Amino acid sequence: MRTGRSLLIVFFALVTAASFNISAAPAQDKKIPVVATFSILSDLVKNVGGDRIEITTLVGPNSDTHVYAPTPADAKKVAGAKVVFVNGLGYEGWMTRLVKASGSKAPSVVASKGVKSRKMEEEGRQVTDPHAWQSIGNAKIYVTNIRDGLIAADPASKSAYEANASAYLAKLDALETEVKDAISKIPADRRRLITSHDAFGYFGAAYGLEVIAPEGVSTESEASAQDVAKIIRQIKSEHIPAVFMENITDHRLLDQIARETNAKIGGELYTDALSGPDGPAPTYLDMFRHNVGALTEALSS
Ligand SMILES: [Zn+2]
Repeated sequence: MRTGRSLLIVFFALVTAASFNISAAPAQDKKIPVVATFSILSDLVKNVGGDRIEITTLVGPNSDTHVYAPTPADAKKVAGAKVVFVNGLGYEGWMTRLVKASGSKAPSVVASKGVKSRKMEEEGRQVTDPHAWQSIGNAKIYVTNIRDGLIAADPASKSAYEANASAYLAKLDALETEVKDAISKIPADRRRLITSHDAFGYFGAAYGLEVIAPEGVSTESEASAQDVAKIIRQIKSEHIPAVFMENITDHRLLDQIARETNAKIGGELYTDALSGPDGPAPTYLDMFRHNVGALTEALSS
């Protein structure tokens, strides 16, 4: 009897909520236009924004954000956005000029705000490593910044952004456990990897791998002949098992290194961009699983 009555109350509550939604529909159904600078960040924003946002990505799948040249069409996209999401840490050097050119007054949310950044010496100067998203711990910080940025831009959908963010944070927690478990199965003396540009610094620090990269933290400068010769010597003397291609960089340098050292090519890693929808890394979660799968396979045997 009590159950029947409770159900009735729930039923009326639902009817009331439903009619309220119908009357509020025009304002509620309008998605807010947002821009994200690159595909990995865009996927994180999509997971928090869900169906409340209409997202535009400036640098698409398999493309290199370091050396991106914005177009007049990008200025239009930024001009139409209610909020703009950037990685920060010096990654999108072209963004300040683009925002200025667009005339946009929309707030820019720096997704990496609060991340403990890695600094390194490169050609005698101190540079900041922008690839913070390659640690899942940092991705969680990105997600909370994205959530807060969306709530500030669109307070009416606050509860939806909060619910989406906590659901996605739970997925990141599960992914983190899975990744740590997989890396722990690689023999300790084989946890070393070589990629062309230095995009796995945060990854290496978070999961205990040594990362060697001839090109530094940006793809702008090419590796010098001395750098390449040094890495070839290192691979030979330390018996580093595998070198990895990247989806955004030219494969020729690593082909040469692999040829001269007999190190095997350990497959292609997704560093700075996702794959297209039909590739192996169309989302952040897929990217991480693909990369860790390629690493464990090449480094374990
Ligand atoms: Zn990079």
